Amino acid sequence: MFDALTDRFEGIFTRLRGKGRLSEGDVDEVLREIRLALLEADVSFTVVRGFVARVREATVGLELSGALNPAQQVIDIVHQELIATLGGETLRITYASKPPTVVLMAGLQGSGKTTASAKLARWFKGQGRNPLLVGADLQRPAAIEQLRTLGRQVDVPVVSRDDAIGGEGGDPVEVAENAIAEARRLGRDVVIVDTAGRLSIDQELMEQVRQIAQVTEPQYTFLVVDAMTGQDAVTTAENFHQALELDGVILTKLDGDARGGAALSVKEVVGRPIAFASNGEKVADFDLFHPDRLAGRILGMGDVLTLIDRAKEAFDDQQAEEAAARLMEGQFTFVDFLEQMQQVKKMGPISGLIGMLPGVPKELRNQEIDDGELGRIEAMITSMTTEERLKPDIIDGSRRARIARGSGSDISEVNALLDQFRQMQKMMKGMGLGPKKAKKGKKGK
Ligand code: GDP
Repeated sequence: MFDALTDRFEGIFTRLRGKGRLSEGDVDEVLREIRLALLEADVSFTVVRGFVARVREATVGLELSGALNPAQQVIDIVHQELIATLGGETLRITYASKPPTVVLMAGLQGSGKTTASAKLARWFKGQGRNPLLVGADLQRPAAIEQLRTLGRQVDVPVVSRDDAIGGEGGDPVEVAENAIAEARRLGRDVVIVDTAGRLSIDQELMEQVRQIAQVTEPQYTFLVVDAMTGQDAVTTAENFHQALELDGVILTKLDGDARGGAALSVKEVVGRPIAFASNGEKVADFDLFHPDRLAGRILGMGDVLTLIDRAKEAFDDQQAEEAAARLMEGQFTFVDFLEQMQQVKKMGPISGLIGMLPGVPKELRNQEIDDGELGRIEAMITSMTTEERLKPDIIDGSRRARIARGSGSDISEVNALLDQFRQMQKMMKGMGLGPKKAKKGKKGK
């Protein structure tokens, strides 16, 4: 995410760290580099100008304060300024006093609007809500089908023209209006309306969304924008905001090689914050937007908070505790191993997780980590019988050959896995982590 920008900042700060005191010339130099880094990241010119001016103001007299080292102070100032530029606070969603809470989704075609609608529905479910998805994009024939498929994936019902709410001519405004009544009937407390997108802004599209907004009275109107389109995204947002009162932006495709311009310009130029961010094709790659976390990532400080959130979401606490207890008792089996591995995998690609750790050197952060290796290990374990997973000692030569065949790997790979597993068990016992067995052993002597 924003790798080039992170690299630039890292370079600037590394040079800065070497200095004991900062002269005025040093500060000028740093500010010039920051300015260039932001412009290269496609940040709007006015935003860059304001950013640099505020950092300059905050650094005045810095070399006089001896408490912190000057480089640290500059980094802190830039960090705070980045957080502010990204919108400051994380949005707190409030719900309509009289349900349903309506969320209107607008955006250009291909921005990721339909996907984001489903992801948002999943997010609301995670908040204990009962969302309903409404397909009001009747322009693109495949859109409704896509929404239905996504709805099934996130287990949220989808209503559209083909249902009872469709009305006579399948008018999107009518569909949206009827869907609100349908939500009340079905006891759904959040309604997410996916509206039509076009390739570019046009009056008819704007008029349609405006009418839908009029009849559904949304609590939130979100504009979905593709982060990869940089400053164009901001122009789109400005145009939509003129026609439709936006409450926030949903920024998508942050996993791509977006430079950062859209994220860093939207709040100041449009005056509306980024509400949610989407950073992948999977339905789980979506969350509230956290300016502080992204600012930390941009400055190479990692993003431990997101890592913890992911772990909380992916890990079943009880299962993990039980597995840990068995590990301590030297009774950890391939069954536990497989469960743990699958939980780790739920947190997303390993390469993505490494980027969230603070202080990870650039080379490692950008290294391609082969998630396929995990897949191969998983295939070998799933090719074992339950008995083999519980008692690996019974896996003899012919069983090894069968496991290799079943998982499409070499016998040498199966041997390596079994060896590693045995070594791990031995190590656990050797560390005195097998209390029950150890006690028994002592008694026996
Ligand atoms: P719509 O035309 O605005 O409704 O866009 P879609 O929801 O159909 O998305 C367009 C394409 O972008 C699809 O192939 C999505 O899978 C993809 N997409 C959406 N969000 C993301 C994201 O956050 N990251 C990535 N990599 N792809 C995304």
